[in-house]
Amino acid sequence: MNITNEMINEIRNKVDIVDVISKYIPLTQKGKNYFGVCPFHDDHSPSMSVSNEKQIFTCFSCGATGNVFTFVADYEHIGFYDAVRLLGNQVGYNLGQAKVIKNKNTESYEIYDKACKFYQNNLNTALGKNANDYLEQRHIDKETIKKFKIGLSLSKTSVTDFLLNKDISLKKLVDLGISNENGTDLFINRIMFPLYDLEGNVVAFSGRIYNTKDGSKYINTKETSIFKKGNILYNYHNAKELLKKNDSIIVMEGFMDVIRASTIGIKNCIATMGTALTKQNANLLKKMADNIILCFDGDKAGEEATLSAITILKEIDVNPKVVRLEENLDPDEYILKYGKDKFKAKIDNPESSIEFLMEQHKNKKNLTDIEDITKYINESLNDLSQIDDLVLIDLTLKKMSTEYKVEYDILKNKYQEIKNNQKQKQVVVSAKKKEKYSQQELASRYLINYMLKDEKIINEVEKKVTFFPNTNTRNLANEIIYYYHKYGILNVADFISYIANNEEELKLFNEIINIKTLSEYNPEEIEDYIKVINSYPVKRKINELKDKLKEEKNPLIQANILNEILSLKGVKQ
Ligand SMILES: [Zn+2]
Repeated sequence: MNITNEMINEIRNKVDIVDVISKYIPLTQKGKNYFGVCPFHDDHSPSMSVSNEKQIFTCFSCGATGNVFTFVADYEHIGFYDAVRLLGNQVGYNLGQAKVIKNKNTESYEIYDKACKFYQNNLNTALGKNANDYLEQRHIDKETIKKFKIGLSLSKTSVTDFLLNKDISLKKLVDLGISNENGTDLFINRIMFPLYDLEGNVVAFSGRIYNTKDGSKYINTKETSIFKKGNILYNYHNAKELLKKNDSIIVMEGFMDVIRASTIGIKNCIATMGTALTKQNANLLKKMADNIILCFDGDKAGEEATLSAITILKEIDVNPKVVRLEENLDPDEYILKYGKDKFKAKIDNPESSIEFLMEQHKNKKNLTDIEDITKYINESLNDLSQIDDLVLIDLTLKKMSTEYKVEYDILKNKYQEIKNNQKQKQVVVSAKKKEKYSQQELASRYLINYMLKDEKIINEVEKKVTFFPNTNTRNLANEIIYYYHKYGILNVADFISYIANNEEELKLFNEIINIKTLSEYNPEEIEDYIKVINSYPVKRKINELKDKLKEEKNPLIQANILNEILSLKGVKQ
């Protein structure tokens, strides 16, 4: 069964946000609203308000806002649609097998699904014998082949012909990176490893040679509308089902590493597909598990990837653990060479990221040289100052003190000094961070805030606003207008469901809905905002004309330009 917007709204109408949230945190009623301690930041006083009337929650302190689904999704560390399923099942909808529909891409997913099954089937035919032998020799068993939907590509036009026969256009196949423009297959005689998006849809392939030494070892689907390498976390959809919040997730580089680990029963692995861990990836990982273990390739590149992943994760207050493999081996090679037990022992005893970083600082230093030791200690103290674990900090300082024969108190003081400096810097940064918006952007945001409060303003905006200067703000305004026309009503709680999968839009929405504005709009105020926004194209035009004026030599044309500027400024001539 597919989950539609209408169904989501229906479920939302059947559950009460106050009931649901009060199962998670105690709420007390004050006036119209309910208040509780916010679970999304380190809250000591009840900063979260839950509105029975609007069916949304808002935290006055951290700005978290949302409806009943986004609350449950964020609290339970599950996806939006899983939250819909969870609450839906509680009010009598059986959505257990529900599949998320993304109308725009459904056709592409179906094509990939067909291609994937086609390749899988090839492996089961007589033509697949060599490939099967190869996989067996690489210790990839039948169960693993099935689980990861491994397949086989054959001759020059087989999958293209197969799909053309199913009334799919060649252009579509070329766009999706399955076929070449001349009608041949992109993958020929390769073992096919499907790559999945976060929902588990096959969106690309990586094809490996097996019976020849010619050609690149792997070729991958190019980036397409459904395949963005940076968005992929290989095996995320499987691992997610497996994990509970306090578990560990192991992050590797390649899909082969994940498949290999699975063959020895380690199933909580995902792969970044060789690209640097992105902020988006990091946020997903943080939601998935309490412990993140980085187990990248043992080579120099893997070391650098580890460093960069630590930096990204630290930005969101996650201190990952690190496993380093010897002899430049990747996890796949390591497991093949040393076996299950040795690899498991490594995974069970990862080092802390601080140990890893400190080890890094030892590179290219002579630790019998006093200057190098000083440098090493300072760099390590700097790293230490960025973590919060007091026990780990103290133990590390003590260890350093004995190892390099420096008084503990001196180390502690130096550490404190760095920490204090950092705090000062942070104050400066956060003061700078108080973003300054242009006048037009501020007016746009206030206006959208009122659109969400009163449908009359939606009409006003449609009639009078020519153009919101900022793309994101404009998109949100357009979504609101579109939604309003589609449903004839703008219910904020339902609108949140509507945009819940677009993180950026949801963030902007949160910022806007948290702007403190009057509960009833003042028509003059609205007019002012519209005037400011509409002045934008005029302003741009005036600036362009001014530039032109500066360069123009002909006095007659100069006069014309000047007139145009004056009339744009509204000066009567
Ligand atoms: Zn909060």
